[in-house]
Amino acid sequence: MGRPIFVWNPDYEIPIGRHVFPSVKFRLLKEALVERGIIREGEVEISEPATDEQLRTVLDSTYLKALRMYEHSAATIRSELPISRPIIEGVVATAGGSIRCAARALAHGAACHLGGGFHHGYSDHAEGFCYINDVAVAAGVIYREGRAKRITIVDTDVHQGNGTANIFAGIPEIFTFSIHQEDLYPRPKEVGDLDIGLPADPGADVYLSELERGLSISIDGHRPDLVIHVAGVDPFEEDQLGRLNLSRETMAQRDGLVAQHCASRGIPLMTVVAGGYARNLSDIIDLHVQTVEAMIDAYDS
Ligand SMILES: [Zn+2]
Repeated sequence: MGRPIFVWNPDYEIPIGRHVFPSVKFRLLKEALVERGIIREGEVEISEPATDEQLRTVLDSTYLKALRMYEHSAATIRSELPISRPIIEGVVATAGGSIRCAARALAHGAACHLGGGFHHGYSDHAEGFCYINDVAVAAGVIYREGRAKRITIVDTDVHQGNGTANIFAGIPEIFTFSIHQEDLYPRPKEVGDLDIGLPADPGADVYLSELERGLSISIDGHRPDLVIHVAGVDPFEEDQLGRLNLSRETMAQRDGLVAQHCASRGIPLMTVVAGGYARNLSDIIDLHVQTVEAMIDAYDS
């Protein structure tokens, strides 16, 4: 179908000090892809911030105002990040990047956002490391503008995409599928269109067969015009937060399954980075690189 588009912005690296969430990974991912000759610097598109009108597709006006105070309030206090103007500007740029990726995937077949995946963000409050749910903003804007009538969100981050499930609970055209570790934040889970909650350490065979079952229901059953893969790498065996214990090879098979499933059916696909908390930052980068490689393998042929 054609080579994927790549979208990134230096503002994704936000000043949060020493933290289990390594926002430096977005820049390191872009640099690793270029240094390893997987992509060219010149083909990286720089995202623009989402407009307030775009953000309000998903966010309550009062919550948007609370974010723009750049200090913690009742609506932001469940965030596990500090808050400041550059942090909020970084997540607004991220939302803009996911919107761009969705539009580019629809036009070109595939797009990789070298950022994003803040799937714990709600319409009216922050959670986890997520102030603005860029996945929901992108799906919401593309759906509202009529550029896609049906969308499927495939969330393979180790944590359930609770914000996304909540935001689209009343919109059947946007199908939310999450495959995650059940005994883990968030508790309680939201009810998405399809939730596969796995026990810790399920093994590669169970994981991959459950993922295939989920893809069959959420994609072949829903027949979307666009798929968004929230490709967190925290199901990895070295992760500090999750216990799905998947090997590097199984993670690559995961990314390949999603990409091939969509490419072989001619369905546009975009990926976002999402979580990843392995002890070694280099593992996190390598795993996100694998996701991009799977996209290139599936679409650039
Ligand atoms: Zn996660």
